[in-house]
Amino acid sequence: MQLNIDLNGREVLVTGSEKSARQAVRRYQAAGAIVYRLSVPDGGPNDGPLPERPFLVAAVDDGEPGWDALLQRCREAGIPVSVEPPAGPEGHVTLVGGGPGTVDLLTVGAVNALRDADVVFYDRLAPCSELTRLTSGELVDVGKTPGHHKVGQRDIEKLMVEAALTGKNVVRLKGGDPYVFGRGGEEVAACVAANVPVRVVSGVTSAISVPAAAGIPVTHREVSHMFTVVSGHAPLTEKEHKHLAGLGGTIVILMGIGTLPQLAAGLRRAGMQADMPMAVVERGYRPGQRTTIADLGSIVTAATDCSNPAVLVIGEVVRVAEANRNHAEAAADLDRLAASLLEA
Ligand code: SAH
Repeated sequence: MQLNIDLNGREVLVTGSEKSARQAVRRYQAAGAIVYRLSVPDGGPNDGPLPERPFLVAAVDDGEPGWDALLQRCREAGIPVSVEPPAGPEGHVTLVGGGPGTVDLLTVGAVNALRDADVVFYDRLAPCSELTRLTSGELVDVGKTPGHHKVGQRDIEKLMVEAALTGKNVVRLKGGDPYVFGRGGEEVAACVAANVPVRVVSGVTSAISVPAAAGIPVTHREVSHMFTVVSGHAPLTEKEHKHLAGLGGTIVILMGIGTLPQLAAGLRRAGMQADMPMAVVERGYRPGQRTTIADLGSIVTAATDCSNPAVLVIGEVVRVAEANRNHAEAAADLDRLAASLLEA
């Protein structure tokens, strides 16, 4: 269950040790609450004044015995208690897959890791617009725009490791899935080399979800029983074009706008027919999402004004999306016709 309560100006007592409760304290402060602290069950010397009757008690379970009695007293007095997760182990890194850019496609694991973060290093393609709602951690933009590296890869790794070594819980938020063209493996290796505990929360990759945003299933019974995900960052070799053209399934290309002319020409040389359907899906799940559908022979001309981020799809599955779309449009036409006939 999720409750959204207006806490502006409300007195909230956050219980639990300094370390366990630090994110909860920041969260309640960010929500506008007047935060009071109780770090040991019987009231420590540094906890300062306590409210007479708090609007809410936010109970962080720090594992210490003694909190139960306090919470019981709150319940008896009719003071609501919200049970808050304690901070995770100090000084670790979590690589989080942020999905293609909408919070709808963040996993529960991603949301929990963000809530537990002291600092978040995020990328351009991560779902950044909602970050302040999802974390109380410091936000550091290490995003790169193509050809315009803001923070180099080694420097990002250094920043992550250094922050974790000072005891912070670090989230490295990446677009899509960290292990799909995301350099996640290198970042894990950097943590391991520095003896920093690290884990990976998989994300929804754009390779599957962005075609889906355009209604394209990457596999479809009797149409395609495999899909291959390729990086278009650099042009492919003739051998690779040949292999790809010979596979017969769906081909999904990420980072492929810049090399689209080479790819289309290479696949044609390798024998793929010119009427093979193709789609370019730009800015999936983001404002300005757009799908351009053509075929291998005409895509370069059709996609001249397409730009990154975009996912390219090559294969008969593109027709499935078209057929479904036509079906949906025909159904809508029929509905409109029926409605106008009824009105007449
Ligand atoms: N790890 C990411 C991919 C990183 S490479 C993942 O699993 O999705 C970056 C490429 O991903 C972009 O050039 C583009 O091809 C694709 N991409 C990511 N998000 C996208 C989006 N919202 N719309 C279209 N393409 C996207």
